[in-house]
Amino acid sequence: MVIMNRRQTIPKHLRYTIMDFNRQFPDDDACLEHLKEQRFPGGVAFCEKCKQEQKHHRVKGRPVYGCDVCLNQISPMAGTIFEHSSTSLRLWYYAMYLMASTRCGISAKQIQRETGVTYKTAWRMFRQIRSLLSESDMQLEGEAVEMDETYYGGTRKYGAGRPMRGDRKKTPIVGMAERKGRVVALVAPDIKGSTLLGYVREHILPKTMIFTDEYVSYDGIKHMPAGYRHRRIKHSAHVYVRGNVHTNTIEGFWSLVKRGIGGVYHQVSQKYLQSYLNEYSFRYNRRDQGNLIFTSVLRRVAELAAPHAEGLAQMKPAPTDAF
Ligand SMILES: [Zn+2]
Repeated sequence: MVIMNRRQTIPKHLRYTIMDFNRQFPDDDACLEHLKEQRFPGGVAFCEKCKQEQKHHRVKGRPVYGCDVCLNQISPMAGTIFEHSSTSLRLWYYAMYLMASTRCGISAKQIQRETGVTYKTAWRMFRQIRSLLSESDMQLEGEAVEMDETYYGGTRKYGAGRPMRGDRKKTPIVGMAERKGRVVALVAPDIKGSTLLGYVREHILPKTMIFTDEYVSYDGIKHMPAGYRHRRIKHSAHVYVRGNVHTNTIEGFWSLVKRGIGGVYHQVSQKYLQSYLNEYSFRYNRRDQGNLIFTSVLRRVAELAAPHAEGLAQMKPAPTDAF
């Protein structure tokens, strides 16, 4: 098996190879046990029947845990992206592992080839996993934040790339990036000043120095009440770096996304573009963390599980075909 684009620069203690994955998650039971520990550490969870926290034990032959006192059953999969799925839990874990381990993304086609699930199933799995990766409430800070826009569905060259009026094919994407830090990338309805300044207000800490190019929609940044400072680089005059004034960080992120979407996914519909941006941002924001990216994805599953959904296990049978 080939894991594409796996970076070799990750320190040894942060490496997590396919061997490590196979060792930690040899089968569905190991994955279920892991999921249970994420959601109900030590098997302790609120029991709907006892009306209090109780310890739960694994029920043999079913992917559920029973209350030690009243035997009422809870399912670690209830309320998660795995609920209602007939795909094995281990395959889900493997898909998450793949998504976390590549730099440029992983195609549904590849997991179809490797595991034999249908393309549709693989595509749906990735869509579900991506749905966990949004960081839309992130606030950027630091010495400087770079801001830039790009377009999906067309190429942009400096000074010539902004779409013309009536050019509907290009979808604007706005990005903000800390130097050597985190990134936020958003599919934008347009690139008017009001839209861009709204993103500044929402995602950049007050008083931060913001670097942009000379595009007119950024004009208002220095007049915003939050006291942002603003420096611009004249791309139209073919100046790309002046001292520390540049937007190379966010542009580097754009090229990563474009290489990935172009090379791995080939084409992404506008409807799902944001979820792909979330995937790239999620990995980029943890790019030095090696195996912790996979851990972060796993943690998201539990964090974003519908609250108290474990009670659902009483009402309908848990999916047993996965086990
Ligand atoms: Zn109970």
